[in-house]
Amino acid sequence: MYPTDTIAAISTSVNEGGIGIVRISGPKAIEIADKIFKSIQNKSLADVDSYTAHYGNIIDPKTEQLIDEVITLVMKAPKTYTTEDIVEIDCHGGTVILRKILDVVLQQGARLAEPGEFTKRAFLNGRMDLSQAEAVIDLIRSKTEANMEVALDHLEGGLAKKVNDIRQDLVSLLAHLEATIDFPEDEIDDFESNELDNRINQVLNKVDNLLETSKRGKILKEGIETAIIGRPNVGKSSLLNALLREKRAIVTEVPGTTRDVIEEVINIGGIPIKIIDTAGIREAKDQVEKIGIERSEKFLDKADLILLVLDMSRELSKEDHDLIAAIKNKQAVIIANKLDLEAEVSIDEIKEIASDKPLVKTAAIDNQGIDKLEKVISDLVFSGDVEAQSQTLITNMRHKNALDRAKQSLLDVKETFERGLPNDFITIDLREALEAVGEITGDTLGEDIIDQIFADFCLGK
Ligand code: GDP
Ligand code: ZN
Repeated sequence: MYPTDTIAAISTSVNEGGIGIVRISGPKAIEIADKIFKSIQNKSLADVDSYTAHYGNIIDPKTEQLIDEVITLVMKAPKTYTTEDIVEIDCHGGTVILRKILDVVLQQGARLAEPGEFTKRAFLNGRMDLSQAEAVIDLIRSKTEANMEVALDHLEGGLAKKVNDIRQDLVSLLAHLEATIDFPEDEIDDFESNELDNRINQVLNKVDNLLETSKRGKILKEGIETAIIGRPNVGKSSLLNALLREKRAIVTEVPGTTRDVIEEVINIGGIPIKIIDTAGIREAKDQVEKIGIERSEKFLDKADLILLVLDMSRELSKEDHDLIAAIKNKQAVIIANKLDLEAEVSIDEIKEIASDKPLVKTAAIDNQGIDKLEKVISDLVFSGDVEAQSQTLITNMRHKNALDRAKQSLLDVKETFERGLPNDFITIDLREALEAVGEITGDTLGEDIIDQIFADFCLGK
């Protein structure tokens, strides 16, 4: 189903900005823009070349009122983002101006675009596959450069290529098997007993290789929920500030249940380290200083990674011991802080009670040991994880689930084959694998699920 109407939306952030862009896409994009845009040279946009910019005014055709001085960019089908005619109106970036321009565009017959609808059109019109379309939003939302590079690879079709390669293998297997079923009397050879097995193993191998990248991919994309814990005055805030000074990635507002929490993201070797409840650590001193074990436990449950700070200049207290015990089964780093002061605790003493946790000595107050800490964190987070061979990583749960299902179907194929069941049975499983893999690129996905995927996009993209 190819879209036929014309859509429009504000494509830039709706906050105040230097410029703003209203984007129109569809068969009537140029006609609509022409009705509201008066070029300085009195030129109709219908007559201009593709990928040209034109200076002029937006005039409300009803009231003849001037709305803004703009530049319109005309891009003609099919070589555009959506493959349709597109007009972008570059205006002054005020909320009211943007709204007014969008309003007159809509009055002239465009429909307000749904979130992600421009990209959805690029997909529906065959300009990109679903994995590429999903990469667009990943790219926009990437938190670190490493994250961005992975998204870019998907956008360029890196994942689609691998997936299509797997599909190709499956299609050729299926074709051969079906030929033996449909024309048994012909001279089409059944697979030699180990040939089918070998070929299935080859495909399984490719699926596995992709699946193996998903741990790293998930971490790069979603980051690691991290809690800095420790008793009062050990240096939690100082440590956070030391990390933030160099590595602050982004600050996002996470709508919380009771109040909005500022989430700080620190970029450590490309890993977005998301500090849980930073506001609590930094501002509400009493709150965190009083967290004690009971509140720490809440943090502990939620966190993927714990940074437990100890003050080396004071003897270990019961609270320190309790915290060390509480992180026993967690992924954690112990930070022996205030190493610039005279030590009251020895490293050996800590190692005795927390031998399995990596330990880093720091003086948060003057940034000592911070580099080492970053190295330890990234080694710990990626531990046992093979260094990625390429930048093509699975970062999306939907893709991972599809690959998991494909893998299961391929294992079923092997089993069916080993049990000596007829080829029809094998083809059923193979088809399932094919279908699962096709979901990644969107070839075998229902419309409702596709709608759902794009609904998660931002407006105007
Ligand atoms: P928090 O209560 O755990 O957040 O600890 P703070 O970061 O607020 O630090 C408590 C006190 O210890 C402050 O006076 C800091 O300046 C000091 N402090 C933190 N880290 C160090 C350090 O590495 N060396 C020294 N000498 N003082 C530190
Ligand atoms: Zn503090």
